Amino acid sequence: MKKMMAANWKMHKTRAEARESAATLIASLSSMPDDREVVIFAPYTALADCANEFAGKEGFSLGGQNVYSEDHGAFTGEISPAMLRDAGCTHVLTGHSERRALFHESSEAIGKKTAFALKQGLKVTLCIGETLEEREGGHLESVLREQLIKGVADVDDAVSDSDLAIAYEPVWAIGTGKVAGPVEILETHALVRKLLVERFPEQGRSIRILYGGSVKPDNASEIITLDNVDGVLVGGASLDAASMRQIVLA
Ligand code: PEP
Repeated sequence: MKKMMAANWKMHKTRAEARESAATLIASLSSMPDDREVVIFAPYTALADCANEFAGKEGFSLGGQNVYSEDHGAFTGEISPAMLRDAGCTHVLTGHSERRALFHESSEAIGKKTAFALKQGLKVTLCIGETLEEREGGHLESVLREQLIKGVADVDDAVSDSDLAIAYEPVWAIGTGKVAGPVEILETHALVRKLLVERFPEQGRSIRILYGGSVKPDNASEIITLDNVDGVLVGGASLDAASMRQIVLA
């Protein structure tokens, strides 16, 4: 399976800025390696514009940064899988640590979103990760187990390995400039792999595990070659098309 090189633009970029970034990235990656694919998680307002830029461009996909677990109704401010698809998305993020910490999303609620979005035909990247206190307190495994197992609780046992991915993002490494070291990434991705195989004995070995947390052009090549690292999820460094290009080609 291809390595998934994903960009989370968070709450950045106007429509014009997003179009410009998408077009620059596409132009700069005209010869993308066969083993790479790019997914941009763009803000809602820019999705349709990015979809236009990506139309017919092999290797580029678009995703929403969040989704709700209902199809329609009185859910002010929320967005459904069908609406994301209508705007050109094939992917969505669930459980980003900013959703968990700032918007108080529980693992149960994230699990509902994950299962519903998959049922509605989106490919889901479920984010999990521990805080520094949890890691230092010896709770790494229990935290990741809780987030992963509840996050996929209602997911079909036969989910395709191309529809579900896990992004391991240690909270202490997001937007801080602190990257988990190769040993920490290796150990933690092996743990996530073990949890995935427990839950999905068939596909658990091939469901992709992305690393996220201060990935930059100068550390991407070391990270992407580690065992059980099947892609990266990039925040800050993805906002600049030139730096995202270097990461994609790392
Ligand atoms: C993220 O928010 O998903 C992320 C990994 O951010 P950054 O790369 O800025 O640490």
